Amino acid sequence: MEQLPGLLTAWYRQHARELPWRRDREPYHVWLSEIMLQQTRVEAVRGYYTRFLAEIPTIAALAAASPDQLNKLWEGLGYYTRVRNLQKAAQVVMERHGGVFPGTMDEIRALPGIGPYTAGAIGSICFGLPEPAVDGNVLRVMTRLLDDSAPIDQPATKKRLTALLRDIYPHDDPGTFTQSLMELGATVCVPNGAPLCGQCPVRTLCRARAAGHPTALPVKAGRKPRRIEEKTVFYLTCSGRLAVRRRPEQGLLAGLWELPNVPGHLPPQEAVRQAEAWGLHPEQLEKQLTRTHIFTHVEWRMICYVIRCGATPDAFIWADAAALQQAIALPTAFRMFTKEEGL
Ligand code: SF4
Repeated sequence: MEQLPGLLTAWYRQHARELPWRRDREPYHVWLSEIMLQQTRVEAVRGYYTRFLAEIPTIAALAAASPDQLNKLWEGLGYYTRVRNLQKAAQVVMERHGGVFPGTMDEIRALPGIGPYTAGAIGSICFGLPEPAVDGNVLRVMTRLLDDSAPIDQPATKKRLTALLRDIYPHDDPGTFTQSLMELGATVCVPNGAPLCGQCPVRTLCRARAAGHPTALPVKAGRKPRRIEEKTVFYLTCSGRLAVRRRPEQGLLAGLWELPNVPGHLPPQEAVRQAEAWGLHPEQLEKQLTRTHIFTHVEWRMICYVIRCGATPDAFIWADAAALQQAIALPTAFRMFTKEEGL
């Protein structure tokens, strides 16, 4: 394992992808990219990252931004708690650290929304601290290199492999080693399909490859099945405007916008009656759509009724196309219906 940092960093310097957040080691940029990249593909993040920085160029601007502006910039990325915590952490940086991102592991870890992985990434890349950043990618690479079949979704495995990495972390440019491990996991020792062992700079060290079974790793103990929730969603239009409302400030998709919805699957006549009960004067039920949206712990199975209405009661906000494009942050679970209807 002692050979790992040297081999990997030499490879990284030649083969690293050009990514917008790798142009400098400014903590705000690395932090923002690492938060966006959690659970999200690099290709999806590129555009979001560039747009976000263009509108919110500094930590001070992030601390002062309106939640609606931030939610709109995050729309479609999912896991909106991330952007709320980004702002909370920016406010802490402004209040406690004079607007300068702190440079010790304890201070970084104390910021809202920053766990051990992100702290390790920022600490090593931006501040030259020999701190591992261990996520699913790194665990996959490590278990394959070591031919280690301990389940990676158990904390003890992560703890052990983090300690092992910490022992070999280079004190000279640890950030490049962090990035090289991430890059190997993303481009060579890939999660889906067979790893590209023939192109791997550390194949001579790899025990899973020597044993002929790299795809058998990593092992996962498995998580609980997702909870299924049935919903009836209402796509209610009146004179080109769409009914939306705020979600509660707590819970899933807190504080974001939604299409009106009720629990359970209502048949069409009951859906129309529900629209009447809201005071909408339903004129025509135009369409019925069936869609599923998957969150980490819950799965929404939705029937959506597209209903043209003759009244716009105050129970809802009636948004036109411009508001839906520019101001209303509608999560993907609902945005899929507006896209389908061309709004
Ligand atoms: Fe992954 Fe193959 Fe490299 Fe081993 S040799 S680390 S399995 S890509």
